[in-house]
Amino acid sequence: MSVRALITDKDGDRFVTTLRDLDEAQLGEGDVSVRVEWSTVNYKDGLALSGARIMRSYPMVGGIDLAGTVETSSHAELQPGDRVVLNGWELSQAHNGGYAQKARVPGDWLIRLPDAFSTRDAMAIGTAGYTAMLCVRALERGGLAPERGDVLVTGASGGVGSIAVALLSTLGYRVIASTGRAAEADYLRGLGAAEILDRNELAAPGKPLGKERWAGAIDSVGSHTLANVLAQTRYGGVVAACGLAQGMDLPASVAPFILRNVTLAGVDSVNTPREARLDAWQRLAKDLDARKLASTVAEIPLPDVPRVAADILRGAVRGRTVVRIDA
Ligand code: NDP
Repeated sequence: MSVRALITDKDGDRFVTTLRDLDEAQLGEGDVSVRVEWSTVNYKDGLALSGARIMRSYPMVGGIDLAGTVETSSHAELQPGDRVVLNGWELSQAHNGGYAQKARVPGDWLIRLPDAFSTRDAMAIGTAGYTAMLCVRALERGGLAPERGDVLVTGASGGVGSIAVALLSTLGYRVIASTGRAAEADYLRGLGAAEILDRNELAAPGKPLGKERWAGAIDSVGSHTLANVLAQTRYGGVVAACGLAQGMDLPASVAPFILRNVTLAGVDSVNTPREARLDAWQRLAKDLDARKLASTVAEIPLPDVPRVAADILRGAVRGRTVVRIDA
């Protein structure tokens, strides 16, 4: 038996992704088979298809996320018919990912979907949205609460940013959305942003300390942006850093930490322990407004993934993209 899959190959220095049949025996190791219904395109998927050292061997089925229904299982906690979601772990790195009609994976990587979500909703959220929730939890652990002051979200029109704006506004925060796309101001206000900030204000090298502007921030951009975000965080504030859309560097000083008691919290979604994942998905079911989530989503068929993967690296994708995997 074979399944339709979007497979990335390395051909010399070139990386080529094509839709073709894959023998089920080559899907990979695992105790659970999942009929994949939906996947998504995250920034990391863009990187993976471009050959940026995400995939560790070739050929590889891309897609760091998948959602679908269990077909067969020898895992103690999963039965055929269960609706499941998988974010990260080794998908699209060392194990075939979500851009295929079927996946064979270790059951420990799967989470049973909360009733509130369809498998399509799960991929509208995807790694980007689940990471936004991990960032919210990091801010809460750092002591942030709506009465402490405004919260900034950088890369606000992107996937992590859009879901972060939606979550924080629903939780009662006054949200400042930083974006390079002035045309998306109405979209961001619809998600709950109270104020729009031009990302150019944060993008260039800045001072070690600036005017105190926000009590917390979720940053998906890194580099000078994160340095400036830290420099303008209020005394005792907390910043969750999860991304590198501007760059992987952090040209900052220790001034915000030693003079303003600012906390910088790192957020990784790939190897997050299972308990924290379960909690994040339960929180998403409770705190993510379904109408706001729907406003972030564009839907594409599987063959369109390479185009959108290239677009997301150019910062040209708004919100979230779900990928329909036709069985
Ligand atoms: P998106 O491309 O959807 O969002 C990124 C946004 O950043 C863009 O939409 C744009 O927003 C802004 N941006 C893009 N380029 C630049 C630039 N050169 N300078 C400043 N801002 C820029 O990606 P995702 O939301 O999927 O991911 C965001 C980041 O978070 C990525 O770096 C990704 O690798 C990382 N990530 C990390 C995770 C983890 O586990 N730590 C998990 C998920 C994501 P706008 O146009 O509004 O300015």
